[in-house]
Amino acid sequence: MKLSLVCPCYNEEKNVKEFHKACRAALDGKIESYEIIFVNDGSNDNTWKELSDICESSETNIKILNLSRNFGKEASMYAGLQKAEGEYVTLIDADLQQRPEIALEMVEFLENNTDFDCVAAYQEQRREGFVLSLFKSMFYRIINRMCDIDFKQGASDFRTFRHNVVDAILSVPEYHRFSKGIFSWVGFNTYYIPYIPEERNSGKTTWSFKKLFKYALDGIIAYSTLPLRISSVVGILMSFIGALYMLIVVIQKLTFGIAIPGYPTTIVLILFIGGLQLTSLGIIGEYISRIYIEGKRRPIYIIKNYETNENSK
Ligand code: UDP
Ligand code: MG
Repeated sequence: MKLSLVCPCYNEEKNVKEFHKACRAALDGKIESYEIIFVNDGSNDNTWKELSDICESSETNIKILNLSRNFGKEASMYAGLQKAEGEYVTLIDADLQQRPEIALEMVEFLENNTDFDCVAAYQEQRREGFVLSLFKSMFYRIINRMCDIDFKQGASDFRTFRHNVVDAILSVPEYHRFSKGIFSWVGFNTYYIPYIPEERNSGKTTWSFKKLFKYALDGIIAYSTLPLRISSVVGILMSFIGALYMLIVVIQKLTFGIAIPGYPTTIVLILFIGGLQLTSLGIIGEYISRIYIEGKRRPIYIIKNYETNENSK
């Protein structure tokens, strides 16, 4: 198998058939063999039925996986990658925002450039609103400053890997998956190509601002322990300032007899230090909660059913 397309689907009933058609138009006859792996990520519409139809009727190689509930895009990509047999493997969305023709270009690039192992598409111009773009670029600035690995601004999950890179990605078994981090962490040479995402074929994005914020926080906590260090440095600094102030008060009392009437100061300090302590505890809590979840060693996803049309061919 030359190419595997891994396509996570969550409530994409109106898109999957179009997507399949677009893949056939882009790839049939242009590549010696390919398979499409659809992962139904616990959709609550008719996505699974549509996928079963495609699997039954398609003349191309199709694998369809049905997860037992919605595990999130990261988990469904992982599930799909595990089934991929291609020499090259592409992650692509089902909503036709990412054109299958580009996947073909990515494969051709890898065929001609043996020193690269992965091609990733990045958005040169963002389609989102100003505020979201601002937050996203702030996120990249912060995470790049905090982490040792490099995050390319605007890089998407739309990527093509050589199979050995897929094996490396699969060998990272963590539950809290932040794929952009995992892709960088495993190393290898990545070539970035600019692309402009199309409009969504049908439906709307599942990424709310809240979800994106949680995703960003997950990324920072997964790839950096700097927040922990900041809280200890602030703690040390505060104790130092406290000790200094205590010395000043004692000297003032002993030498000049000044007893400072410090009610407001005391209240302000209690609130300030209390706030700092709770913040530090919160930061520690974020890490501990992740240790807790990872410690359970739960599977990343659970498969309800799996079908393929390859045997009938
Ligand atoms: N997706 C998924 N599980 C989820 C959310 C999304 O498998 O819980 C899939 C979705 O069907 C699509 C891809 O991930 O194929 C990208 O999602 P979406 O289009 O909502 O994100 P955006 O393109 O806005 O980044
Ligand atoms: Mg999309």
